[in-house]
Amino acid sequence: MKFLCSSCGLRMDSLHFKQKGLMNPKLTSICDLCLQRGEIAENYANDPINTFAQSLLYTFVGKEGEIEESSFLVKTKQLRKRYEAFLQDYDGNELAQQQLPREEFNQAVIKSETGAIDYVPDPGRDFQYNLEHLGLQVDFQLNEVDFIDRERIRAKYHYRCQYCGRRGHSVDHKDPVSLSHNNDLNNLILSCSECNRIKSNMPFALFKELNDQIAPINKQLVKYENALGTLKEEFEHRRRNLAAQMHLKGVVNDPELNAMRKENKRLQDAIDSLQSDYDALRKTRENYFVTNWKITELKKKNDII
Ligand SMILES: [Zn+2]
Ligand SMILES: [Zn+2]
Repeated sequence: MKFLCSSCGLRMDSLHFKQKGLMNPKLTSICDLCLQRGEIAENYANDPINTFAQSLLYTFVGKEGEIEESSFLVKTKQLRKRYEAFLQDYDGNELAQQQLPREEFNQAVIKSETGAIDYVPDPGRDFQYNLEHLGLQVDFQLNEVDFIDRERIRAKYHYRCQYCGRRGHSVDHKDPVSLSHNNDLNNLILSCSECNRIKSNMPFALFKELNDQIAPINKQLVKYENALGTLKEEFEHRRRNLAAQMHLKGVVNDPELNAMRKENKRLQDAIDSLQSDYDALRKTRENYFVTNWKITELKKKNDII
């Protein structure tokens, strides 16, 4: 879940608002970067986080009231977008997080925001380029798998995600590379970008165990993907046909053309409706992983206490 920081105005993952290492979890009105630069959470209001905190029985650190958008530290929306994309790259990259402590990463971002470093991360560049231009080092070679090997893996698994069964082309390590550095072919597997994204944030063994329990849902996802693929192809075919007919007749308005448009609209509605069912199921599946992971973490914590 993403929240807006009341101080800098960046929208980022909820993890940035949670204070670590406390028995009683706290959510702050401003992000960890702003805390790190010395801003005081009590001075800011943040209704959505306050509500979220209440629903989780967490303590909220901040004022009551609405976010004041006029005084964001990062002034323009365009600039905020660039930092948001960069933060997201880091949050989703296990390799970067292992080699580069969050505080150090934050410090570089803060320096860029204040102008102490004369570079703003560019979403058009890759993550490594942006890191280097902020004076940060991460060795991504650790994760390098030969291009040929990637193609071999994709062919071996027939371009199918080995977790959910949908189309996929992300070559993944079964054992996270950070632990094993194992680039052997038998440690590589194929996944779709969605499973890859969900899995990257959680322990592999847990992901696998949870995934094995929802085989019928995964089957359903494959059906949705196939049906949508077919319908979209059909729609594209009709759309081209309509354009050709329009070209032939030399007019835009014509009873026959209008009838075709009506048909196309009906198909488009059917696609939209199917797509939204599909998206809802995907969302439910993702929540299932996230919630169960959270419960596992809570259980671990209780074990310690
Ligand atoms: Zn902030
Ligand atoms: Zn998948």
